[in-house]
Amino acid sequence: MSVRNGREFLSIPGPTTVPDAVLQAMHRPAVDIYGGELIGITDSCLADIGRIMGTTGRTYIYIANGHGVWEAALTNVLSRGDRVLVLESGRFAAGWGGMAEVMGVEVETLPGDWRRAVDPAALQSRLQADRVGAIKAILVVQVDTASGVINDIPAIRKSIDAAGHGALLMVDTIASLATMPYAMDAWGVDVTVAASQKGLMTPPGLGFVGVGDKARKAYETAGLRTRYWDWGLRDGQAHYMKYCGTPPVHMLFGLRRALDLIFEEGLDNVLLRHRLLAGAVRDAVAVWSTGGVLAFNIPDPAQRADSVTTVIVGAGHEPRALLDYCRNKCGVTLGIGIGDLEGKAFRIAHMGHVNAPMILGTLGVVEMALNALAIPHGKGGMQAAIEGLARAVPA
Ligand SMILES: *Cc1c(COP(=O)(O)O)cnc(C)c1O
Repeated sequence: MSVRNGREFLSIPGPTTVPDAVLQAMHRPAVDIYGGELIGITDSCLADIGRIMGTTGRTYIYIANGHGVWEAALTNVLSRGDRVLVLESGRFAAGWGGMAEVMGVEVETLPGDWRRAVDPAALQSRLQADRVGAIKAILVVQVDTASGVINDIPAIRKSIDAAGHGALLMVDTIASLATMPYAMDAWGVDVTVAASQKGLMTPPGLGFVGVGDKARKAYETAGLRTRYWDWGLRDGQAHYMKYCGTPPVHMLFGLRRALDLIFEEGLDNVLLRHRLLAGAVRDAVAVWSTGGVLAFNIPDPAQRADSVTTVIVGAGHEPRALLDYCRNKCGVTLGIGIGDLEGKAFRIAHMGHVNAPMILGTLGVVEMALNALAIPHGKGGMQAAIEGLARAVPA
């Protein structure tokens, strides 16, 4: 018995649901890459990525996923033997650091854990102890997609300044750009990395880097530069070289449409929509959690991301049955727990092209699964989500 047939929901935190308008924009013949409309599309996408990042600095579009732009960012500002400080708050900053290590960069981790945001005070004391300025860059994610935490980037900047330290601040916004407020220049971020397949509602395959003046200065002496990632080669007028080769034509048509959707809705409203829908998810999870089995991975409500919610499954239950039920019986694919939370949690994504029926549908299916599997849970989670949204979105 299943009630699966119909439109299925991909509720994983990337790749996210691609709007039909974006898919349709990509469904077209290839075009000239040396002239014509694509040149303007590149320029406008570069400008609009900067607008969403909140920077007037240079931006780059790479044919790459998030891992690719991690590498792009590192190679352009670091040299072999440099030290970076990774601010742990889940899985992804450590992954970025791991990539640096393979490149011959010395990696130090500011220990954190999977259940809370980076502690700015701990960062400040570590930086104060680095009197010789050995740490060249600080790597941090804004939203960690595994733990579901949001890090306070302005507070991290304040700690660096309070310590009087000159390290570059490099921020991964792959899961947060266009889902939560971000202001690269105003927050004093030196390098921002992002990717197409989460808040930006475009298929996986494009990565973005925003570069501030200080990072641009570091670029001049960076020994790890390689031809494909190199910013300098991409800075000229030649359209072909902006991608170090053939542009990703169809991806650019898709990205252009996705950016149009964001600006047509208004970036502020996009962020508000994420906050409200995330609130609905949290309202439901809070009620379910009173049953003693489910719990928020991030106990502090102020540290929960508006992009994804990570829910721990405890008390002898495991998430597999719930994930299987939601997918096989109802056509809703939830995120699995990854890293330290593998086999211990599930994730509900609420980023990108999502609206109230999609979120309420997903929550309804989770609650249905909790019932069908007789997993103890507080009753009325759906009701709480509906009531919260109805208050937040008045007639
Ligand atoms: C998804 C994600 C990545 C990795 O991106 P890929 O495209 O899978 O390489 C990195 N950082 C964060 C915060 C992410 O959410």
